[in-house]
Amino acid sequence: MVETGADDARVTAFWRGLGLPGLIDVHTHFMPERVLDKVWAYFDAAGPLVGRRWPITYRHQEDERLAVLRGFGVRAFTSMVYPHKPGMASWLNSWAADFAARTPDCLSTATFFPEEGAADYVRAAVEGGARVFKAHVQVGAYDPNDAWLDPVWGLLAEAGIPVVTHCGSGPVPGKFTGPGPMARVLARHPRLRLVVAHMGMPDYSAFLDLAERHPGVLLDTTMAFTDFSEESAPLPKGEHPRLADLGDRILWGSDFPNIPYSYAHGLESLERLGLGDAWLRAVCHDNASIVFGI
Ligand SMILES: [Zn+2]
Repeated sequence: MVETGADDARVTAFWRGLGLPGLIDVHTHFMPERVLDKVWAYFDAAGPLVGRRWPITYRHQEDERLAVLRGFGVRAFTSMVYPHKPGMASWLNSWAADFAARTPDCLSTATFFPEEGAADYVRAAVEGGARVFKAHVQVGAYDPNDAWLDPVWGLLAEAGIPVVTHCGSGPVPGKFTGPGPMARVLARHPRLRLVVAHMGMPDYSAFLDLAERHPGVLLDTTMAFTDFSEESAPLPKGEHPRLADLGDRILWGSDFPNIPYSYAHGLESLERLGLGDAWLRAVCHDNASIVFGI
């Protein structure tokens, strides 16, 4: 058993204090064991897309990770899988569908890559019950406007399925990161339920602009506002009122288990924004509960 007693108590005190039935975490990573091992090795080596020391706090076996998350009172979560090369997405999707089938509190998650057949396996995933998608523009190093993806965005926009997309330039910029490429996708697919991962850090302001322009765009809090992120990618001064105004479109995400600090710290980093209990209730539970019908 993994010892997380003090951490558990801080997390449960957080949501109980708000009068919530628990948390909904839209950004957690469960993936095939050997893929996760590679991801962890990459973080350990502070590879070029990571860029800094990054100790993984919750490096446990899958069943232990699930127990930790449930111990925190997370009612629903995702299994963010993502390919870094062609030929991988379809296999990841079948793993994730299987994982969701044996993990009832996991929202069935799928992914894609710009490649021949992408629209077909995305359609199959939707028909198979996928409720959320993950796209990783930084690790995948692809243009989200790639022609292979046009029918994919179209299909997901039509189905109203949220796509959690790492499109910001943190922790280090990629060739197609930043607000520009996704703004072009949204211009063609205005109904797309884009969920900007990590609040778009470090370009918070530009992604808040994007959300203001497109009422279907959401943002996830993943790693934002923590001590770790504030060191390198601080929220610009003066953005608090816009965070408050967009409070019905911001979703709690943690990046569990790949975080270099405790789960409780992530939540407490939201609390110290000082936006109030109603904002925290919406962000940590109620918004996701509406989006996913939980
Ligand atoms: Zn992540």
